[in-house]
Amino acid sequence: MMNAKVAQAINDQIKNELQSAYTYLSMASWCVKKNLDGFAQWMKVQAKEETGHAMRLFEYLHNRGADVELQALEKPQKEWNSITQVFQDVFRNEKAVTASINTLVDLSIAEKEHATKTILHWFLEEQVEEEATAQKILERLELIGKDPAGILFLDKEMGARA
Ligand code: MG
Repeated sequence: MMNAKVAQAINDQIKNELQSAYTYLSMASWCVKKNLDGFAQWMKVQAKEETGHAMRLFEYLHNRGADVELQALEKPQKEWNSITQVFQDVFRNEKAVTASINTLVDLSIAEKEHATKTILHWFLEEQVEEEATAQKILERLELIGKDPAGILFLDKEMGARA
């Protein structure tokens, strides 16, 4: 039987992942409105990935015979001042997700939930990638500043994400 405290914490993480997906979907919508279709595409793919993360944990809880108790999502932010500000939030969000995974690993160790600790390794590696990607895009946007040509150039590149 799975440790109840760890099961609860994983349920919380399912919510965090879905909240991330919801936030990225809202960012996608903002990008569409600003005619940044490439950034919108990137955000839509990102939202799908976050849903995938939630599903991994969902399946894991079922495999362990634990209860899945889905929680209410919060209404995501809808407006940003610039695409740079959007990516400041992406980077901040990914760092917060990393912190919540780290807390979950700490709890798994404390509660001797070794199987959970093992599946969380995938998430730790994923977060290294997520943070590196978000930071790189943010730094490129800061380099570009308000130059529309630079933003449109990067938008085209962002749209290549499948
Ligand atoms: Mg995630």
